[in-house]
Amino acid sequence: MLRILRTFLLLGIALTAVTAQAKTKINDVYVIHLILDGTNYNTMQRAIRMGKLPTVKATFIDGGAVFTNAISTFPSTSTSAYQSFITGLLPGHSGIPHLQRFDRQNEEFIDYLSVKGYLKLNDDFINLNAVQNPNVANLDATDTIFELLNGYPTLALYTTARRGAAESVPKRIPVRGLWAAGVSKDFLRIDQLAYDKLFKKYGRKLEDIPRYSLVGLYSSDDAGHHNGAHSDAVITALQQFDYFLKDFLELLEKQGIRDKTYIIVSADHGMHDTGKLFRFREALIEKNVAVKSRDPRWKDYNVVPADRGISSTHVYTRRPDGTFAPLPRAYELTRFPLKDSTSVNLTNLIANLGPTELVIVRDGDDATMVYNHDNTSRIECILLNAEQWCSYEVLSGNDPLKFTGKKARRLMDGKPHSSQQWKHATAEEHYTDAIVQLGTIFQDGRAGDLFIVPQDAWGLRVIKAATHGSLIRDDMHIPMLIAGPGVPRKSFDVMRTVDIYPLVLEWFGFDIPVANYDGVNPFEKFKGDNKLWQKLATIEQKCSDKRCVRRHAGYRRSELRKIATMELRDRRLLSAKLREYIAGLEAQKAYKHAPQIALPDYVDDHLAIARMIENKTDVRREKMEVIVDSL
Ligand SMILES: [Zn+2]
Repeated sequence: MLRILRTFLLLGIALTAVTAQAKTKINDVYVIHLILDGTNYNTMQRAIRMGKLPTVKATFIDGGAVFTNAISTFPSTSTSAYQSFITGLLPGHSGIPHLQRFDRQNEEFIDYLSVKGYLKLNDDFINLNAVQNPNVANLDATDTIFELLNGYPTLALYTTARRGAAESVPKRIPVRGLWAAGVSKDFLRIDQLAYDKLFKKYGRKLEDIPRYSLVGLYSSDDAGHHNGAHSDAVITALQQFDYFLKDFLELLEKQGIRDKTYIIVSADHGMHDTGKLFRFREALIEKNVAVKSRDPRWKDYNVVPADRGISSTHVYTRRPDGTFAPLPRAYELTRFPLKDSTSVNLTNLIANLGPTELVIVRDGDDATMVYNHDNTSRIECILLNAEQWCSYEVLSGNDPLKFTGKKARRLMDGKPHSSQQWKHATAEEHYTDAIVQLGTIFQDGRAGDLFIVPQDAWGLRVIKAATHGSLIRDDMHIPMLIAGPGVPRKSFDVMRTVDIYPLVLEWFGFDIPVANYDGVNPFEKFKGDNKLWQKLATIEQKCSDKRCVRRHAGYRRSELRKIATMELRDRRLLSAKLREYIAGLEAQKAYKHAPQIALPDYVDDHLAIARMIENKTDVRREKMEVIVDSL
């Protein structure tokens, strides 16, 4: 109710937002998303080929849709990937950048795997797409699938991403806490607990059966971490899943809802074999970097590495003004103060540590520098027509992302190409979907100022047989199987985890503005970029004066003027809406009785992000004014 009131007070006339919160009429369908956490694509394929998964084969491969190139998120971690299923947002647009984030205002870590941080994840959600949608301009317009189904039975089972779920299991302890409770001795046991719960929840009276369930199944993840990404233990976990699925389908049949139920079986991220320990923190300390100590009393630090045991991490750095504001330009790190008040090129220092493979550095909100030893490149993304348009250029040496495919190399022409174009072109590259995943990761300011991806064999903090979190294909490429009424029986090629969201919206019959999320319906064929919009994106990125605009426009000046005028109108409207939104947040901060438009703990956080977007929108608006004037 509070959220309804809040939304209403804030948006005033945005009735769609209000009705979305009340119980809306939905199509008479059920959706269950079963996540085989951390399952390597090839291992799953092998199990199918070996004939070990007969029910999976019959249900999906023979009776549903299969994606041969489904892509996880970067970072390839559960938190970032699970949230993408229920929000349709990339990690850099949802405020969930990794397993942990550093609160830049309060200078403390929020750890989504800890007891305290576990529940915080759902308050942490923001929607950077919605705050840049001129008709919405609100960071809290998250519209998770659970929130949209408010009033209906929904189930979040063993998932931290659960904002708005009617029923969450377990309620208060992190899923990982179950291991501590003694489950860890038997990796199959954790899924058995989930299966028991599912049989109970789906065996109830019809009106109590969840319309939507998001289910984390961790046996394969656990088996992989301990025994290897391709181990027989993983296959055993998958086999156990297949037995469950057979019984579960029978239960749906018995309940009379089998032909109304959509079933998604996917991983959240993949996994690859590791075994070597990258002592990243220690390496920095050894080089005299003022790393934040685990002792909270020591305040004299300027580098804060996140600290979780997978194959990527991110790092926050202090600004010269003493704050932890997001890094405005990558070159600031080239003269970074050390403990002894000399300075160092922090990026080079990290890039030259033995186990480092990639260093990915924030270069303002919309650009990302990529370093691999002496090789440097830059990604820049702009928001145009509610879509990300990204360009990619190698600045020195060879391509740090090592693109080899023709499709990807053709897009390296310095011009912006749409998110969808890059998705299709880079889905099979070693660094899968790197341009859009890396080009957007810094946009909401919640991620650190740089990410580190070690070489394949190395993991951070603890030694594991296998892990994930990086950008390599084994981590990014996931199984994705979909079955249900009307689902095409065929094999599809590319999709992202964010593409599940619009599909589920369609199944239930929800109408959410497409500008509010990153996904697209994965069953629809991509027809290539709209040439006119691409031209406008190129002009926006390259031109700051009349002559340049006209030269690039060529003979399509009047057509371009039309869409540029539309875009300008949107940007002006957004500027105005953002001023209102920020004034509302400022009022909430100053006056006790002002309407609450953000959760109290989040006013400063939202203000910082909203002001960042406001500044960016002003620049975008001015740019488009120049373009419209020149055309
Ligand atoms: Zn996971």
